[in-house]
Amino acid sequence: MGKILEVKKLKVSYHTYAGEVQSVRGISFDLNENETLAVVGESGCGKSVTAKSIMRLIQTPPGEIKQGSEILFNGKDILKMQDEELRKLRGGQISMIFQDPMTSLNPTMKIGKQIAESIMIHRGLNAKDAFAEAVKMLETVNIPNSDKRANQYPHQFSGGMRQRAMIAIALACDPKILIADEPTTALDVTIQAQIMDLMKDLQDKLGTAIILITHDLGIVASVAHRIQVMYSGLIIERGKTEEIFKNPQHPYTWGLLLSVPRLDAVNKDVLYSLNGTPPDLLKPPVGCPFAARCEYAMAICNESMPEETKLSETHSVSCWLQHPMAPKVKSPLNVGGAE
Ligand code: SF4
Repeated sequence: MGKILEVKKLKVSYHTYAGEVQSVRGISFDLNENETLAVVGESGCGKSVTAKSIMRLIQTPPGEIKQGSEILFNGKDILKMQDEELRKLRGGQISMIFQDPMTSLNPTMKIGKQIAESIMIHRGLNAKDAFAEAVKMLETVNIPNSDKRANQYPHQFSGGMRQRAMIAIALACDPKILIADEPTTALDVTIQAQIMDLMKDLQDKLGTAIILITHDLGIVASVAHRIQVMYSGLIIERGKTEEIFKNPQHPYTWGLLLSVPRLDAVNKDVLYSLNGTPPDLLKPPVGCPFAARCEYAMAICNESMPEETKLSETHSVSCWLQHPMAPKVKSPLNVGGAE
C-alpha cells in the first residue's frame, strides 16, 4: 500500500479577540491507499480542523494554516494549489461527508439531480447519463427503488437514507480519499452500524482510502485499520486498531476505552466518564496537556512535554509513564496495558 496523503507538521490557529487559539499544534501522519484511518478524540481536540485543512476549508481569517505545514496528496502540496487545481481536488480526488446531511444537501433539489451535478462537474457526463449514474450510485449505497428515490427531495428521506445519499454524492466521482467527519453521530445505533458496514463494503469494492473522524472509539473497531488519538491539538497515541484496543498505553486512551459501553462490563448501570475539561488552547500548557485530568500525573508531566515513544513499528505514545524511571502503572482496562 503506497502513501496517498502525507500531513507534515500541520499547525492551525484561529485568531480571536481573546488571542490566538492553537487548534492543531504540529501534527504529522500518513494515509495509505485502501486504508481506513480513524482520528479519535473529544470535540475541540483538533480532529475536524485537521480534516478541513486537508480540504483547504479553513476560513482565513479567522483561521490560519501556519507556515511550515505541508499536506501532500500524491506528493503534491495541497496548501500550495491554485483555485482551479483545488476545485478539481475537492469532490474529484478528495470528498468529505459531514455529521448532518441536511446541512449539506440542498432541500429544494431532487436527490438524483444533486448526485448527477457532482458527476457532471467532475466526470464531464451529460445530464441524462449523469442522472443514470446517480441512480446506480443510490443502488450502490443500498437505497431500494433507487430510480424512484432519485426523483425525491431530501425531506422525503429518513436520516439514515440521507447519510447514504451523502455518501453516494461523495463517492460518485470515484475519489481517492473520503473524509467522514462524525458521519453517524446524528443517527441511532442500528443505523450507525449499517452506515459503518456500508462504508467498509464500499471501501472493499471501490478501494477508496478513508479518514474517519469520530469522538466514539466504539464505532471504529470493526472498520479502521489504524487509529490515532488526538488531544489538545496533538496526536497522543497512534497504532494499528488491535494495538490501540488490546494494548493502549496513554491514560487518555484508557479513558476513551472505558467510556465505550461493553456487554461484558461488571456494572452495566454506570458508564465511565472522564472528569475535567481539556486545556485552554489560547495558552497551551508547557507540559503534558492531559496532566490536569490525569490520575497518574507526576511533577515532570507539568514541566515538560513527553516525547513520542515507539512501542512497535506502528504503535507509539506520548506519555511520561513510558520513561524507564517512571513508576509502573497497571492499565485500568485489564487488557494488558502498562504493567
Ligand atoms: Fe498522565 Fe503524565 Fe502521561 Fe500526561 S504524561 S498522560 S500527565 S502520566
